[in-house]
Amino acid sequence: MATKMARAAVMTKIYGELEIREYPLPRVEQGALLVRVTCCTICGSDILAWSGKKKAPFPMILGHEIVGRIVKLGAGVVSDSGNRTLKVGDRITWTIMDNCGKCYYCRGKGLMMKCLNLKKYGHDCCDDYPHFTGGFAEYCYITPGTCVIKVPDELTDAEAAPANCALATVVAGWEAADLKPFENVLIQGAGALGFYAAALAKHYGCRRIIVTDILPHRLEAIREFGATDTINTVGMKDEDFVKTVRDLTGGFGVDAAMDVAIAPTIVPIGLKCLRMGGRYIEHGNTFPGATATFDVSDIVFRCLTIRGVHNYDTRHLQWGMDFLEQTRKTFPFEKLVVGRFPLEEINQAMDLARSGKAIRVAVVP
Ligand SMILES: [Zn+2]
Ligand SMILES: [Zn+2]
Repeated sequence: MATKMARAAVMTKIYGELEIREYPLPRVEQGALLVRVTCCTICGSDILAWSGKKKAPFPMILGHEIVGRIVKLGAGVVSDSGNRTLKVGDRITWTIMDNCGKCYYCRGKGLMMKCLNLKKYGHDCCDDYPHFTGGFAEYCYITPGTCVIKVPDELTDAEAAPANCALATVVAGWEAADLKPFENVLIQGAGALGFYAAALAKHYGCRRIIVTDILPHRLEAIREFGATDTINTVGMKDEDFVKTVRDLTGGFGVDAAMDVAIAPTIVPIGLKCLRMGGRYIEHGNTFPGATATFDVSDIVFRCLTIRGVHNYDTRHLQWGMDFLEQTRKTFPFEKLVVGRFPLEEINQAMDLARSGKAIRVAVVP
């Protein structure tokens, strides 16, 4: 019997047009799953890889914010990471990474995203078996070390797709920020992560949810997601910005700040906006060479904490899914995702994503 072939959009060079190629569908090994991709949203890091700002092995299938339906379960796969039964046809998402669970970081340090045998979806060369390693394809092959989460029926594909990168990452940052009800938060950046951070802050009862960006339409839109105060920093002096944030918080500064923009120079300004003992969560600058200068004594004298948060743990993805299910009528998550591009229009989708006009662009392979 001939092996069934399926299509994928393949990146073959930096900023080159993605090419539609066909690969044989992989045999499904023990503990793995084969999924028919129903939606993949384009993440900022897909654009970073495409533009060469981040190392990428060619040829590769980009896309890691994926939702799909199970077409085949490998031997031994009976339930997801929440112990919910899995069967063919179920809609699932999964952790951005496959980790071994046994290495120094997995076993001993609780850092599954730093696994010594880490694989990430949308990050690998697709020349060899199982080929289908990213979301810009008809199928995706889910390897045994991946944690799978069933998507609640109420959620649309567009609502669920960004959960396994943007939302789960913000949930991990939210946990690290340790914000209590009625505390004040500064969110630097009104991209996907900023929108989710604002919604979490609103849901968990923060008082002031201050969001900064340089795009007025995004600052307008994020008010629907819980932002109480928005500041457009274009042309604004750093000291005026810090004063504005302090004035909004009784003169003290915010309890925590989350940097979810790709701009290292805003980090020192964000640090100045913290109250004594404040927490700074760094998410945004995910490419090498992102340098900034600040006075280290300020960290000491004002008892500040700086925490880097990269990716997340499985519990954050489950928490994100629960959050979407519970709050989808409060926050218009669907509005974050525009376009429903078929695979053959992947290059239009990439151009739209690169333009920054949309928070998320959806590919429906
Ligand atoms: Zn991502
Ligand atoms: Zn490991």
